[in-house]
Amino acid sequence: MYIGLISPAKDPMGHAISDYYKQGKAGKLRVFSSRFDEDEIPVTQLFRPFEEFPELEKTAIEMASGRILDVGAGSGCHSLALQAAGKEVCAIDISSLSVDIMKQQGIKDVRLVNLFDEQFTGPFDTILMLMNGSGIIGKLEHMPAFFRKMKLLLAPGGAVLMDSSDLRFLFEEEDGSYLIDLAGDYYGEIDFRMKYKQIEGEPFDWLYIDFMTLSLYASENGFKAQLIQEGEHYDYLVRLTPDLNPTSKSSNS
Ligand code: SAH
Repeated sequence: MYIGLISPAKDPMGHAISDYYKQGKAGKLRVFSSRFDEDEIPVTQLFRPFEEFPELEKTAIEMASGRILDVGAGSGCHSLALQAAGKEVCAIDISSLSVDIMKQQGIKDVRLVNLFDEQFTGPFDTILMLMNGSGIIGKLEHMPAFFRKMKLLLAPGGAVLMDSSDLRFLFEEEDGSYLIDLAGDYYGEIDFRMKYKQIEGEPFDWLYIDFMTLSLYASENGFKAQLIQEGEHYDYLVRLTPDLNPTSKSSNS
């Protein structure tokens, strides 16, 4: 699991965010993966206002309450929406370029820190992980460490609100069956690399996880996963809360 920060020299997305904020436009933010063809992230999308949020994100912003943590906040679009709604938010990111732009945009509590940094503590009532927020977990093997961190950061009664996608549609055959190698790595574990102008980032792992698999890992790690809403394309919003009653489950198995 990655626990460091990204330096500006290796931060394509940070430069794209910075250019767009300062100049009103940016070049192409290119995305590469061994699993997909080259793709592009529209930089304007990183600055989306509340009206342009996908429904799942709108729901998460409306549900968020108390002291809120915006994990991997990027340009700060969700933190701005939360502040505008009078909510209390702390935005964190590992990109110093993005953190600077968030401060310039007037987000009051912004910190340059990795979610998994041991020095970073709560408590928070809501932890928001949006735009395939499960990505930051990186790989399935990091699930125990992820849930341990959530337990440490959450205030009593608090919850994680996270969105993710089930990538099984990538393996769908014409007859509607799925061709998935169950002996291989989990199909939602994706390696990415980004490039902006001449700036190349380090490769990183990004996890897409289906709801059933997430629920299993949650219960193994003392959490409950509740499906809040499904999106239009295999995406969904989930609420993760510590399971206060973990033993009661075995009675119906
Ligand atoms: N949530 C924003 C940005 C998503 S891009 C939005 O919806 O627009 C993902 C962001 O997470 C990037 O800005 C990246 O720098 C940050 N990030 C990645 N790993 C992180 C970690 N371990 N801790 C904190 N931020 C992280």
